Amino acid sequence: MNEFELIARYFTRPTRERAGVGDDCALIDAGDVTLAITTDMLLAGRHFFADADAEALGHKALAVNLSDLAAAGAAPRCFFLSLALPRADEIWLAAFARGLFALADAHGCALLGGDTTRAPQLRVDERAVDGALTISITAIGEVPRAAVRTRAGARAGDDLWVSGTVGDAALALAHRSGEAAGLDAADLSACRARLERPAPRVELGIRLRGLATAAIDVSDGLLGDLGHILERSQLGACVDWPAVPRSDALRRQPQALQRRCALAGGDDYELLFTAPASVRTEVLAAAAAAGVAVTRIGTMTAHAGLEVLDAGGALLDTTYRGYDHFGR
Ligand code: ADP
Ligand code: MG
Repeated sequence: MNEFELIARYFTRPTRERAGVGDDCALIDAGDVTLAITTDMLLAGRHFFADADAEALGHKALAVNLSDLAAAGAAPRCFFLSLALPRADEIWLAAFARGLFALADAHGCALLGGDTTRAPQLRVDERAVDGALTISITAIGEVPRAAVRTRAGARAGDDLWVSGTVGDAALALAHRSGEAAGLDAADLSACRARLERPAPRVELGIRLRGLATAAIDVSDGLLGDLGHILERSQLGACVDWPAVPRSDALRRQPQALQRRCALAGGDDYELLFTAPASVRTEVLAAAAAAGVAVTRIGTMTAHAGLEVLDAGGALLDTTYRGYDHFGR
């Protein structure tokens, strides 16, 4: 049973809200405005290395939540912070709070509550070992009621777009495990920045209101996350591999690694969205106004299935899977 089957089997029930389990945000109407609510947890040893920089961690813990708000087109309003800390390390806490509030302030998103506990010590081989640092954030944003967007609204014939570039965060991980050769210091630090300090596409998400028919943020890998749009919109898609935007650093890697990083690598936090071909100019203008590049990478199809084509039109292997906490 994988992560998504587990959620579908045990935690998915009918709801009268606009969106809930199975979307980036729950969408709850409250008068003219719809509240978008999302929660994401980061766990030491699972989502970040134990030696991760505390300031970057503060940034990332909030960024991954703001990224879900961006997918829904919501403007961040406030957030709640829950921590299980192995110990009260003031140097660590000061740096974590600095990273957290720098991003919160940049988006006018206020911290309004949370919970703080001590992670229990574990005994391993008769020795006391610190329990895992766990950071959980719930973020709340607002969208005008008429502008809500989920993963489910794509239509056959819509263009498929992605913001920025994909694959650099995965390239940083591949480098760490010795798989990526020839990354110079500048490339490596750019890729590590993508992994450690992702930029949530909040402004783009807002400017795509009324243009994008469906959206998801790429947290688990481009094809896996596209799969969620296909499933919820009940469509297929055809993706043009050469069009998938990659950094120069990634383009210098062997094709197989490029594909794995760009198509299946997680942690990009770009927006993957669909929009009718009739609004191409408006989509490009929205992206320009948000200061983010967007690239058309394919088309939504009425027939089910996901096809990825290479430059010659040949079908590429798409057996890559997105990140699955129970799948490997
Ligand atoms: P995202 O990557 O956008 O944060 P996830 O992949 O973490 O989304 O989760 C997929 C969907 O399942 C989301 O809608 C999330 O809210 C929901 N979900 C995950 N875990 C649970 C759970 N334990 N109970 C209910 N819903 C859950
Ligand atoms: Mg998401």
